[in-house]
Amino acid sequence: MKQMARQARAENRVIGLVPTMGALHEGHTSLIARAKRECSPVIASIFVNPKQFGPKEDFAKYPRTLESDTEKLIKNGVDALFAPEAPEIYPRDFATYVQVDGLSDRLEGRSRPGHFRGVTTVVMKLLQIVQPNFAYFGRKDAQQGRLIAQMARDLNLDSEIVVCPIVREADGLALSSRNAYLNQEERRAAAVLHRALSAAKKELEAGARDALHLQSVLQRMLSVERLAAVDYAEVVDAESFEPVVRVSRACYVLLAVFIGKARLIDNLYVEPRPNDSDELVFHL
Ligand code: AMP
Repeated sequence: MKQMARQARAENRVIGLVPTMGALHEGHTSLIARAKRECSPVIASIFVNPKQFGPKEDFAKYPRTLESDTEKLIKNGVDALFAPEAPEIYPRDFATYVQVDGLSDRLEGRSRPGHFRGVTTVVMKLLQIVQPNFAYFGRKDAQQGRLIAQMARDLNLDSEIVVCPIVREADGLALSSRNAYLNQEERRAAAVLHRALSAAKKELEAGARDALHLQSVLQRMLSVERLAAVDYAEVVDAESFEPVVRVSRACYVLLAVFIGKARLIDNLYVEPRPNDSDELVFHL
């Protein structure tokens, strides 16, 4: 992989990297499409990173579909696939980790101790191996995107981190490899995340700015769904991921909800319209 990337750099080509854990869906292919518009070659990676799963999480049963993934990558015009084995990435004497302080401890980090340390470590390694000009991530994992951008800045990486919009099913459910865990009834129930975020959006559109009020709207919507167990439903600053009192700057409304055994996350990103103090722009 390093050799191929080195060659592309020597030819002054613009390298795009799309890191994934496989079980590819249209969320992933949207990142590839964006990368294709801006880069050549586009390199995708597939690596189910053991270090970002907790001991009680779903590493063993995470979907692995390398053959159909490869077909999708070819169909979507990816130039190369980097699909290393775990011992290549983490040899027995592996000892170095990347940790972003503060941001890693909140929300996803609090619910999944050690998760972000695993994420930033593997992404750092992928960025070192490929040294892409641009690396593409989805906003579905908003806190992850923010952390990786922080890491790239703090460690003076030459890769620009690009965060792309969430791709959704017809009923609003954000595409996710973990949706494969849902049975028919749970799949129907999972749409409640998007319904709750849409309700929060509606409140904001009507002028509501109070975070506690928005949280109570989220909780109310989520409580209607018997199969949903809320991990967190919060309104946070888009930079620090600290809770806000009022939505007066760029914010995320963030959800983590168990539907059966599947832990699903989703979010609504809101930012003030440029040159207008009170109107908001929504990204759902
Ligand atoms: P994963 O394979 O789940 O680690 O995801 C790989 C990349 O795809 C991450 O940057 C995710 O944020 C992104 N991604 C996952 N689901 C979606 C989606 N529904 N829309 C956009 N990007 C996504």
